[in-house]
Amino acid sequence: MIRPETPTAAQPAQISLAELPLRPELVGQEPYGAPQLDVPVALNVNENPYAPSEKVAKAMAAAVQKAAASMNRYPDREALGLRTALANYLGFGLGPENIWAANGSNEVMTHLLQAFGGPGRTVLGFSPTYSMYPEYARNTLSNYAVAPRREDHRLDAELVLDAVRHHQADVVLIATPNNPTGTTTPVSIIDEICTGLAEVRPDCIVVVDEAYQEFTEVPQDSALALLPRHQHLVVSRTMSKAFAYAGGRLGYLAATPAIVDACRIVRLPYHLSASAQQVALVALAHADEMLEKVDALRQECQELQGWLRDQGFEVVPSQANFCLFGRFEDRHAVWQSLLDQGVLVRETGPEGYLRVSAGTPREMAAFREALTTTMKTHRMKAQAKEAHA
Ligand code: PMP
Repeated sequence: MIRPETPTAAQPAQISLAELPLRPELVGQEPYGAPQLDVPVALNVNENPYAPSEKVAKAMAAAVQKAAASMNRYPDREALGLRTALANYLGFGLGPENIWAANGSNEVMTHLLQAFGGPGRTVLGFSPTYSMYPEYARNTLSNYAVAPRREDHRLDAELVLDAVRHHQADVVLIATPNNPTGTTTPVSIIDEICTGLAEVRPDCIVVVDEAYQEFTEVPQDSALALLPRHQHLVVSRTMSKAFAYAGGRLGYLAATPAIVDACRIVRLPYHLSASAQQVALVALAHADEMLEKVDALRQECQELQGWLRDQGFEVVPSQANFCLFGRFEDRHAVWQSLLDQGVLVRETGPEGYLRVSAGTPREMAAFREALTTTMKTHRMKAQAKEAHA
């Protein structure tokens, strides 16, 4: 057997990032991501807290074993079986030609911007919104423009169309429910936006990011219904949230076949591994079970919002599996105090707010207890200060 010679134990040359000829726009940037801490109660990245059943986990393991038997071969580059299963899951008369899938909806979005953004083109988001949007734009060398939402964090057609006109946007990103606010943009408004764009900016692509759609009151009330009428509309989904499959990394979109073809041009060949495709197929075959806890989580999130309001917090009305609450003079201190008690939430969104995901009843009880303790301590500290003053 021929093996490359083992090199001697010299250390690789050391150099700092600052000394490397990095692209100028990347200088000083940090890798994206919430702190990944090992805590008893993780309510910071909007996951479904319920693990797959032993039966489903075994079926996933069997699928990996099957894929392993031919791991010497490249996987199906078009992931046709998986795209068919995703089309069947979505319904709305969609077929595999309408679906594109990738390594999380993060990659789906990157494909879209590689195809429709790029140098000299502008991607438009509506703040506050998902903090990866500017990064997708940066990574695809697109300009990123942002227009503020209305005061109640909602969008209407007038606001969106004015912003598109003002920024001469080429791609518009609308998350509904929006992260981090949890507010929705009704399908009727998306319809108005797409219709209006035909006059304002006919080539503009509209991406509706429905990452949390299954958590809304009426999940079937989706922008997917508009696809037959609007050729420039894309609906993005993910298996990371309601589908309880964040670890599997599988996002997808639905659109007219020409948009799928555009993504096929820019994707790396074999971007979805054989095991990724096979395991996702197993998850989809058990869709009812994977989504079993969605109703409970929806309920949990509404109760959470009610409880927070009862405690006197401001809460942004959310249709997702998380909500923004505040306002804190020093939100970092509150975040840290919760963490010290084993509860991890997210320090994100408008100044003074924190975001918390809906968890299991046990996790919610731990959150409520930790927040109550935090607020008591803060009040007590404030009183002690006054007494000494
Ligand atoms: N869109 C929104 C609005 C999100 O909140 C997230 C995850 N936080 C994503 C997309 C990306 O999800 P994933 O890459 O796991 O599919």
